[in-house]
Amino acid sequence: MAKIELLEKYSKLIVEVGANVQKDQLVVINSSTETRELARLLVNAAYNAGAKKVIVSWSDEFVSRSGYEGMSIETLKEVPQYSIDRLKHFVDQGACVISITSPIPGLNAGVDPNKMQTSSIASRKNFKFYSDHMMGNRTQWCVVAAPNKIWAKKIFPNLNDNDAFEALWDAILGASRVTETNDPIEEWEKHNVVMLAHNKVLNDYQFDTLHFKNSLGTDLVVKIVDNHIWAGGGEFSTKGIYFNPNIPTEENFTMPDKFNVNGKVVATKPLNYQGNLIEDFWLEFENGKVVSYDAKKQKETLKNLLDVDEGSKYIGEVALISHDSPISNLGILFLNTLFDENASCHLALGRAYPMNVAGGNDMTPEELAEAGSNQSMIHTDFMFGSEDMSIIGTQKNGKEVTIFKNGNFVI
Ligand code: ZN
Ligand code: ZN
Repeated sequence: MAKIELLEKYSKLIVEVGANVQKDQLVVINSSTETRELARLLVNAAYNAGAKKVIVSWSDEFVSRSGYEGMSIETLKEVPQYSIDRLKHFVDQGACVISITSPIPGLNAGVDPNKMQTSSIASRKNFKFYSDHMMGNRTQWCVVAAPNKIWAKKIFPNLNDNDAFEALWDAILGASRVTETNDPIEEWEKHNVVMLAHNKVLNDYQFDTLHFKNSLGTDLVVKIVDNHIWAGGGEFSTKGIYFNPNIPTEENFTMPDKFNVNGKVVATKPLNYQGNLIEDFWLEFENGKVVSYDAKKQKETLKNLLDVDEGSKYIGEVALISHDSPISNLGILFLNTLFDENASCHLALGRAYPMNVAGGNDMTPEELAEAGSNQSMIHTDFMFGSEDMSIIGTQKNGKEVTIFKNGNFVI
């Protein structure tokens, strides 16, 4: 099968199973100039699925870097009204959104972190209505990946540029369950059944706390909110349309109780934030809040991440993934959250997903806070799974259940 046919299969999967584009729906595709090949195929696939109109929102990380260097901090703070109106239009029109992620790790090395922080806080504040809309599943959205040569070379340093690029495509397609011989749409229907079964087992236990422990020094007790819902795999939008927010996905995740997280967590993969790699870091929590932390590399970037707002020092998601799982078994460090988070247990600093508590999508921000849900302008996953991770769940009646032994699910 020619590569282009494989990419067409991938595009059809993203449009039909990922975003589940509806007839006459407006479709927005976020793409960098690096991933224009996939963006063009997605546009075609969306029209084939009956989209009314497809808008590609282009970005370019090199242009962004030049902007950080060339603009004053005052200018970086400005968020023009037209860019807010544009997103309002997408919301009003009920657009679904497909985002192609393709990081360029290390691109922003040397850029004044204060400038990036100022700019990102300004846009997050102004676009909060938009992220609330997405994270509240008020429309269908889907995040997928495509390679770029710099990213590929970073992952496969021993291959030449082209081979590295192709190897990263193969890894992305493999992890997304797109192969030459299969029907990926059928494959994803089966995958969703398995994910839902796992959610059900966890939901039936209604654990009160999860105790994570490994030899690296992680010793963390996370209380999960009452009436929590484990999610993972397909989800319903508030309009009742079934979609898959991430391709690939292997995680079962739920909502931690904001003020009831205690202990230390040691990260097991680097975290790419604002184009910088935070490496070998740990966080210590007291009553939900990060009270101390350290990183061997990019401690300043980690500090910026924690300082975005009050909620960025608390967690909003806890996710379980067996160490022995398809993406993890590829043995590739992707340096991209979409993949690395699906290869390892993780926590997210920042905002919780409302759907992770019963009735959450219909709650006001005050009701969500009351339920123990964290609020923030950010939601950033970091990975801490390991091959020796043990997780003990405790139910309300005090009964303890081993959930993970030696890195893997045992329930
Ligand atoms: Zn997650
Ligand atoms: Zn997350």
